[in-house]
Amino acid sequence: MKHIQGTARSQTLLLPECVDDYVGPDNVVRFIEAFVDSLDLTTTGFERTLPKATGRPGYNPSDLLKLYIYGYLNRVRSSRRLELETHRNLEVIWLMRQLRPDFKTIADFRRENKTSFRKVFREFVVLCRSLDLFGRELIAVDGTRLKAVNSRERNFTKAKLAKALAESDERLNRYLKQLDDADKDNTTPSAGVDNLDEKIAAIKERRARLEQHRADLEASGEDQISLTDPDARAMHSSSRIGIGYNIQIAVDTKHKLIAEQQVHNKVSDLGLLTETANAARENLGVDHIDVVADRGYYKIEDIENCEAAGVTPYVPKPMRGSAVKNGFFTKEQFQYDADADVLTCPVGQKLEPKYKGKVRDNGTNIYVNRQACKACELRARCTNAAFRKVTRYANEAILDRMAARLSAKPEVLDQRRESVEHPFGSIKQWMGQKDFLTRRIENVRGEFSLTALAYNIRRALTLVGVDGLIQAIRA
Ligand code: SF4
Repeated sequence: MKHIQGTARSQTLLLPECVDDYVGPDNVVRFIEAFVDSLDLTTTGFERTLPKATGRPGYNPSDLLKLYIYGYLNRVRSSRRLELETHRNLEVIWLMRQLRPDFKTIADFRRENKTSFRKVFREFVVLCRSLDLFGRELIAVDGTRLKAVNSRERNFTKAKLAKALAESDERLNRYLKQLDDADKDNTTPSAGVDNLDEKIAAIKERRARLEQHRADLEASGEDQISLTDPDARAMHSSSRIGIGYNIQIAVDTKHKLIAEQQVHNKVSDLGLLTETANAARENLGVDHIDVVADRGYYKIEDIENCEAAGVTPYVPKPMRGSAVKNGFFTKEQFQYDADADVLTCPVGQKLEPKYKGKVRDNGTNIYVNRQACKACELRARCTNAAFRKVTRYANEAILDRMAARLSAKPEVLDQRRESVEHPFGSIKQWMGQKDFLTRRIENVRGEFSLTALAYNIRRALTLVGVDGLIQAIRA
């Protein structure tokens, strides 16, 4: 009994006569070809769509776009590896019609057309809309962090610079003291420490560099500076990303397709809801849409802007503040009467605004009832002060309305979790993208547009197949 044997390498084979014979009718490259050929790359903003009149002919941007879409669909993102695929991968050889651009041409294409990839992403959203793959009723917005091309050691905050400078000073003083001691003992410095002069010179050099970083940081007006990718920022330590970017996506809950994606270098999600949700609404071509997001997006200005833009938000209130921390009655236990402008506390007492008929600079008023609190038997469960103060925004009715909506439809929170976990999980695990390859935020935005496009293509292929997508393009 023998194992299955291969064919001898020197054996003459009767192979199919053209490359097309190696690519099946349902191969994804056939969709990539049809999709890119259907785009007007000039209006999409791609460079070099018209061939030069003179000189050596360049590559058609549509060929390079096809190569990138194929690469991002197949976990091949680096220009060198894409070049390699043009030599050895039959699908790529078919897609590129045996063109073999070098890695520099491939990398330059991505850099020169970074803003156009976003438009290609949107064109695919339009295609999916024509197939009715978006529900266009509820979207879930969430963020994740992806690592930038910048190590922790090459990122500085003011505090980190101050600490590094203090450590340098401490070491410098120690070395100088050793020099002094050596002078007093009339011995050579090297008797105690090797290469003391070199170490002092090195530390002075490092100190000068740190001072320069501090001056640059002051001049930038930012709170941190990154040396390799100046746009990257140190993310929250809980994200375990180190230095990276904040990725925001809006996912349609019908089939978990991404309706909008953005890349920011803000550390927090706070304040990013309207921008992402409203762009998703526009991409989906509807006047109104509901959006659900987690507590990290709870910001009254953002909630108000969403409503004004035709986006109805569902964002749960974060459990924070001194009342929650101390186990006192929470603000939700105080009922607001808009007509009388009073709050009714858990024992039925009325708290009135401290600043009658006006609000403070931060848009809030404080509600109190000193007399009632003084005599209250439940005061220990309400405050550790002489009386309870409840702060309320002048426009807090917006938050009250949202809380009422959430109470009526609590299931949207589960829909949010199910919807956003799929794309983030797929992008990080299945597509293997946990970091970016390029520097500067505009390049990173171009990269993530390709990533989100690849995710959506993969998802749509699962739902309607290659043939379904090609037919939609031709319709
Ligand atoms: S302490 Fe004041 S606000 Fe709190 S329950 Fe008593 S009366 Fe109401």
